[in-house]
Amino acid sequence: MSQMPMHIEKSFAKDAKATSHKWMIRGGLLVQNAAGIYTMGPVLTKAHEKLVGLINRELNKTGAVEVNLPVAQPREAWDASGRWEKYQKSGTTFVLQSRHGAEYALSPTAEEMAVQFIQSMVKSPKNLPVTIYQHGPKFRDELRPRGGLLRGREFYMMDAYSFAPDMPNLDKNYAAMREAFINIADALKLKYEIVQADSGDMGGRVSEEFMAMTEAGEDTIIVSDKGAANIEVANQVDLGPNAERRKASEVGHIFKLGSFYSDKMGLSFNMNSIASAVQMGCYGIGTSRMLAAVVEQNHDDKGILWPSSITPFDIHVIQINNSEEVAAAVARIEKNLESNGLDVLIDDRDQRAGGKFKDADILGIPYQLVVGDRVREGMLEVIDRKSGAKHEVSMDDLLARYPLKNVEAERGFNMDFDR
Ligand code: ATP
Ligand code: MG
Repeated sequence: MSQMPMHIEKSFAKDAKATSHKWMIRGGLLVQNAAGIYTMGPVLTKAHEKLVGLINRELNKTGAVEVNLPVAQPREAWDASGRWEKYQKSGTTFVLQSRHGAEYALSPTAEEMAVQFIQSMVKSPKNLPVTIYQHGPKFRDELRPRGGLLRGREFYMMDAYSFAPDMPNLDKNYAAMREAFINIADALKLKYEIVQADSGDMGGRVSEEFMAMTEAGEDTIIVSDKGAANIEVANQVDLGPNAERRKASEVGHIFKLGSFYSDKMGLSFNMNSIASAVQMGCYGIGTSRMLAAVVEQNHDDKGILWPSSITPFDIHVIQINNSEEVAAAVARIEKNLESNGLDVLIDDRDQRAGGKFKDADILGIPYQLVVGDRVREGMLEVIDRKSGAKHEVSMDDLLARYPLKNVEAERGFNMDFDR
């Protein structure tokens, strides 16, 4: 922590209202640069990386592959899909201009770029279906950015695009992505509902949203034992007399776009000498909003409580003083735990212990390991952040649980057959 630019405040900022926003600002996880535009500090960046890793593992299982589509997207592609006019009217798209007067949309999503990529790379319907995905910043000039990462004007999204030769294959793509989204939400232990939704400006008709349950959310959903719907479509969906209203935040959205983009942009193949449009699906997870939703659902009056699946660090070592014995023990623990694949945060700042404990509670790493003078007798203390339960553990026990391995030998795969 002595190497991290990170300032933890003693109290909440006045302007932050949503709980996740309050803790993120106070804990030095987030800094505002402009309305709806933020810098994620090192701790939040780690949590975001963990979330991205979790998402990628689930998407890769479906056979989806990662790519990088451009953020600066040429207007011509947006004219072709018909979205340029529409998005200019609604005022959500940021536009860049080149020195030669060419215009570019700063990506609010990337359907056009995905279609162009597939046009270049897939020359036969035999090579379908395929699904591509990417992670990156998205830009929308929201009327009312709010709640820190809950609604930004620059935010992070995982966006995926599936391309199928026909409707049955689109249905399969959609089902596989839906299941991946469920696995991701379940790994986060998220409280959520999957609701029927309006497709807005995206095109296509069938869509479902993944709604994280939180009072800080801007969406209202209707839930009953018959299913769930966004209130925007609730009058078309019969959910019976026991339907209830709840507040939620949309963390994911999956769409069957059909041939909406393919027709306009000419993505079709000849099948039995009939031109047949590619059937497209698109799937988004707002990863920065997801971090905020996770904190909305996981905190107490002392700070954040990161779920183990995306905690920025696994263990927070609280170094009580800078004596030689304590510093040596901390170095040994760090080497040992890290070589076993654990992410370790060490509070080695020149500060009093009381403040370090308070800060550790705000940062919300699931386990705190206290290294103080008792380490002379080989003893440490582990604190469970959530329950507050404390356990004495011997240095030997801790290292036996995570034995020091030869990291180099563990790494990778050796093609040097003579060795
Ligand atoms: P909202 O209704 O909240 O404005 P949207 O329906 O316009 O969102 P989509 O186009 O479906 O958003 O984008 C996919 C995902 O990106 C959303 O499900 C959400 O998680 C995330 N997202 C959209 N807008 C924002 C934003 N301004 N800030 C943070 N995340 C966002
Ligand atoms: Mg949406």
